[in-house]
Amino acid sequence: MRCTCHIVPADVLRRLAQDASLSQDTQRAFIDTAKVDVEQRRIRVQAVKLTMVAQATAQTVTALAPAPALSLYDCNHTQNLPGTPIANPPASADQTARNVSATTSDVADFYATVFKRNSIDDGGMTLLSSIHYGIKYANAFWNGLQMAYGDGDGLIFTDFSQSNDVIAHELTHGVTQYTLQLNYTNEAGGLNEHLSDCFGSMFRQWKANQTVAQADWLIGKDIVGPQAQAKGLTCLRDMANPAGAHCIGPQITHFSQYKAGMDPHYSSGVPNLAFHTICMAVGGQSWDKVGQVWYRVMTTSGAKPAMRMKTFANRTRSAASQLYPGDTALSQAVDAGWKQVGL
Ligand SMILES: [Zn+2]
Repeated sequence: MRCTCHIVPADVLRRLAQDASLSQDTQRAFIDTAKVDVEQRRIRVQAVKLTMVAQATAQTVTALAPAPALSLYDCNHTQNLPGTPIANPPASADQTARNVSATTSDVADFYATVFKRNSIDDGGMTLLSSIHYGIKYANAFWNGLQMAYGDGDGLIFTDFSQSNDVIAHELTHGVTQYTLQLNYTNEAGGLNEHLSDCFGSMFRQWKANQTVAQADWLIGKDIVGPQAQAKGLTCLRDMANPAGAHCIGPQITHFSQYKAGMDPHYSSGVPNLAFHTICMAVGGQSWDKVGQVWYRVMTTSGAKPAMRMKTFANRTRSAASQLYPGDTALSQAVDAGWKQVGL
């Protein structure tokens, strides 16, 4: 099965759907989530095609607003998108509404402050999100048009809006759709997932004002439910240790382990580890230099739907010396970090 723009990979959902240690009710939640994800994937493919056509015909991107407007909808546990509009999300009695509203605004602020980017399309596009998607829906997604968050089954995953890196991960899928336009298959899919984890983690670190040494580098730490925690699971993924047994979705760590057709949530472990290694070698804060190098490659390469990992790695090598000429420590760190994962 092809990967999607969801945060939880399909085979983790299938594994949990068959996990006899879970109640039938919980297993049912994962079966339902997996079914819904197939449908959302079809919608995303169509939305990406529309973006490509729109970008090809547009002469310039005209900023619609200096900062993006946010609109939030409540699915009320249905699968109807976007759902019912929530009038004033920051003042809502619903904690999920307040959460998503505040964090989405923070992610927009992160992109504007750190990368001078005005929303997903750099043209002030309204950020549309829906909460309480489905019944015990155990995932979050970008469907090409909007973000949506499930409440989780409550035992393996809690409310997906609780982890701020999850929100930044989904929003970054939108940024990728408007920049590199990476596919969700093969190496490009792995890069697509990587960029979402990478900017998701950077956002989390920026929000907490952490150095690379202080950061935990975990993805989805705050959505791990009590039953998963009881099994020693502490995150969905770990950029510092992608193959760790504490990850709900452990990943590969070297390009030699990559196989064509692999779920991008697994192959993204290779660039995830390279990014972490490079950041640790450079020190300081991830978004200061290494993040700028990544963003430059993401936004100056044009549409590269079938980009190879080696191409991305080489472009970061070039971008590092272009952005920071004479910074040999940075250039060497970028080169060594990629070599360590076989790229
Ligand atoms: Zn994703």
